[in-house]
Amino acid sequence: MALDPSTLLILTIALAAAASLYLTVEWSVVRERSLLLWSSGFAIITVGSFLALLRSRGYLLVGIWFANGLLIAAHACFLAGVAGFMRTRISRAWWLIALLWLLMLLLPTHAWWSRVMLGLQSLMIAVLTLRASSLLRPHGASLSVGAVQLRYVLLIHGLFYLAKAVSALALGAVVDLAAFGGTLIQISLVEGSMAVMLIALSMTGTERHRREERIGQLAARDPLTGLLNRRALQARAPALIAQASQAHPGALLLIDIDNFKQVNDLHGHAAGDKLLEALSTLLREVLPDDALAARLGGDEFAILLPDGRQAQVAHIGEQLRQAFVHVTQTAVATPEAVSLSVGVSLFSTAALDLAGLMARADAALYEAKRAGRNQIVITPSNAA
Ligand code: GH3
Ligand code: MG
Repeated sequence: MALDPSTLLILTIALAAAASLYLTVEWSVVRERSLLLWSSGFAIITVGSFLALLRSRGYLLVGIWFANGLLIAAHACFLAGVAGFMRTRISRAWWLIALLWLLMLLLPTHAWWSRVMLGLQSLMIAVLTLRASSLLRPHGASLSVGAVQLRYVLLIHGLFYLAKAVSALALGAVVDLAAFGGTLIQISLVEGSMAVMLIALSMTGTERHRREERIGQLAARDPLTGLLNRRALQARAPALIAQASQAHPGALLLIDIDNFKQVNDLHGHAAGDKLLEALSTLLREVLPDDALAARLGGDEFAILLPDGRQAQVAHIGEQLRQAFVHVTQTAVATPEAVSLSVGVSLFSTAALDLAGLMARADAALYEAKRAGRNQIVITPSNAA
């Protein structure tokens, strides 16, 4: 069944309206500005395609110049949405496109009016779309599958419009905008409806993936310190423990702040919170990048080190202990020193799981507390 141009346009109107509605619903849940901009883009395409139907009734200015102007505005919304998604700003110089579009009104209505109009407007859409696609190039951080898909869909859509502009302007392809005549217009109508669908799908996938990532990160982190929480440590520990060997031993450190209650009692809960944050900052500074650091709850922290050579672990523990005492001495005055007690369990095989290593490190921590606090007790890997 061959689809006539009006049917194709009506199909595009329906698809664009559905895409706009869908993105609005997504926005009402996520409140991400880019979704609103993309949704507006599709709403504008809906109106523009509707007005384009008027061409065949002889309303050329509204049906061609204004309708295509709306199409340009919709692509500008897509670009602004992509910029928002990528957390970048776009230059105000892009407003010049609106000016150029207005200037097109001055084109004399010669026989080639239709061709030049189509060529220039296609060029504007191509430039906007290719810029949006180029913004989606990963800069350092890798992009989600949805974002990569959006990048390529926009690239193909932009290249299509570039080819359309070139064939209308340079090659002088036969176009009759008023009667939707010429192969170029026919192909363009089919591409339009397909692009609406593909762009809308990749846009929703893009934001949804980011939202899921964010939720995953929130679920894995301790809200006060930003360190891993107990659940996330339990999930990630087995892979690290499995790497241990005689040549490459690992270590689990359990840290508990000494006399922490005194900080809360004498200086308030907020001062206690600040101290917990200060300790997490210290951990980030002192620990190697491949270490796992978690807040287990209260004033208790756990660290898994892939490099668990005894001298290395003792050095890190000592660094932390000294730096923390320095922080508390300058920040909070308490009757008894607020310091760190550290219990360490070294391991050179994956014979024990996290719970087993925790029990051993806990016993070492208890030793450290009993021996007067502010110290590190290390259990070697061969101790059962
Ligand atoms: P010890 O030297 O034996 O470790 O004694 P401590 O005073 O440090 O007390 P303990 O480790 O037994 O208890 C930790 C305290 O930490 C108990 C609780 O009031 C406090 N706490 C737990 N969670 C938080 C928190 O999120 N913020 C603050 N400010 N305090 C907390
Ligand atoms: Mg404590």
